[in-house]
Amino acid sequence: MSNPVPKPFNLLAGNPALDLVNTMDLRFSANGPEELLSTYADLLRLAAQSRLLTAEQARKLARTVREKDAQQVLASAVELREALAAVLYAWMDGGKPPAAQVETLERHFRAVALHRRLRLGESQLVWSWSGLEQEAEIPLWKLAEAASDLLVTSEAERVRECGDPTCRWLFLDISKNHTRRWCNMKTCGNRMKARRHHARQQESEAS
Ligand SMILES: [Zn+2]
Repeated sequence: MSNPVPKPFNLLAGNPALDLVNTMDLRFSANGPEELLSTYADLLRLAAQSRLLTAEQARKLARTVREKDAQQVLASAVELREALAAVLYAWMDGGKPPAAQVETLERHFRAVALHRRLRLGESQLVWSWSGLEQEAEIPLWKLAEAASDLLVTSEAERVRECGDPTCRWLFLDISKNHTRRWCNMKTCGNRMKARRHHARQQESEAS
């Protein structure tokens, strides 16, 4: 019997590092979170869907990476995700990110710097992963690179969370007036509107 085809990831964040954080779904829900990143195959799917890897690269990695390495890389990706979540949600809550989690990010960002290579582009120098496409860690490194590109620049100021308190998915607000409030207007936006509408109706009935 073959496994059912997994549902595609809901990539709404506008940035792969934030999409990674959102793979722990319903993180703050009373009913408990839902892990969407359970296997190395999931990590490959995420990286391919985010266009960090080509479909062909992902297929090749799925065939060639040894189980032990796959497990290790998945654990590292989850560690990266949880450090990102700790830092970003601390900011969302107006608090100070825990130093230990910043150190974890430093370790991941250092690994990126250690492995990627500086190549000659047309008219500039470019960081490149060429020659490393078949390393088991490549999806992890590319996600860490996206995270460092985001967090170590002023782009970080544009990170927002969904206004639905049970969702709180992260996204990059690149709207002109910085007014994006929902991870997805169709789901969370409408749900919250309906809730507010319901609350107002009850208020007016009670008065
Ligand atoms: Zn949402």
